[in-house]
Amino acid sequence: MKLLSIVIPCFNEEEVIPFYYDEMTKTLKDFKEKYPDVEIEMIYVDDGSRDRTLSLIKSYAEKDERVRYVSFSRNFGKEAALYAGFENSKGDYVVCMDVDLQDPPALLIEMYEAVAIEGYDSAATRRVTRKGEPPIRSFFARRFYRLMDKICTTEVVDGARDYRIMTRQMTDAVLSMGDYNRFTKGIYGWVGFKTKWLEFENIERVAGETKWSFWNLLIYAIEGIIAFSTVPLEIIVWIGGVLSFLSAVFCIVALVLLQMNVWDMMPVIIGVIAFFGSVNIFAVGIASQYLSKAYLETKNRPLYIAKEKT
Ligand code: UDP
Ligand code: MG
Repeated sequence: MKLLSIVIPCFNEEEVIPFYYDEMTKTLKDFKEKYPDVEIEMIYVDDGSRDRTLSLIKSYAEKDERVRYVSFSRNFGKEAALYAGFENSKGDYVVCMDVDLQDPPALLIEMYEAVAIEGYDSAATRRVTRKGEPPIRSFFARRFYRLMDKICTTEVVDGARDYRIMTRQMTDAVLSMGDYNRFTKGIYGWVGFKTKWLEFENIERVAGETKWSFWNLLIYAIEGIIAFSTVPLEIIVWIGGVLSFLSAVFCIVALVLLQMNVWDMMPVIIGVIAFFGSVNIFAVGIASQYLSKAYLETKNRPLYIAKEKT
């Protein structure tokens, strides 16, 4: 018997949970018909909802033994909810899935086959369209993923959703990443393993509203960059270094021209001010290099993740 755990983060989702539960009941029935030897557990993570989300989950848990839940004392955010779900899952395979049906349950069988039969460690999904999303949001989201891809050492895929299935081994690797400021999409890339990408067209929420305002998404984007890239700090060193050099040259030229009575004292003063200003930026940049190393140390990430050994 294999166990498949499905982790479902929920925050104020009373409107969609019934749709989700019904849809999953159907999907899991099809799943069971195809793979009768796979047990299933659904772990709902109530992320400090203030509506009837928890009581709905409890009512399902009472009548359906596949349903388990974790309920937070307050809203900790989706990243924390996913972590809690993974930590409480026991499955040989672990899936994470949004409750709003934007992650199509019908893909589940294909995802399962990728890891259970085709030998992948993970099957992830990405949406190839952003239909139904405000155009500004799509525009900035695209720019964000492009930027991330450039400045991060690990791969971040455009349109990637959190919807994915992982083997136990990969789930444990994700759990071993104790990042407090979590950016799970980056973590998936960081831990490595072989991932199959499945694509689908964007689907709008069945009911309720997105929990992400543009502002939240911006913060999330900045968090992602800070968590997985030290490029912004390196930029400071470069800017500081180049400006110091240029202003030093300018000072020398201004002094020479002053001696020759071509320029007066003013350019020299400006040059000196600019020089000390840029030396300051440079010094901050150097200090931040040490800070970035210390920052990575405090994350306490594993030094490596082994996939096989004798
Ligand atoms: N979610 C959560 N905690 C939060 C915000 C969202 O657990 O603080 C859950 C939410 O219930 C949903 C999933 O994360 O299952 C995705 O949220 P949403 O649909 O609002 O985001 P979007 O699909 O618009 O990116
Ligand atoms: Mg959604």
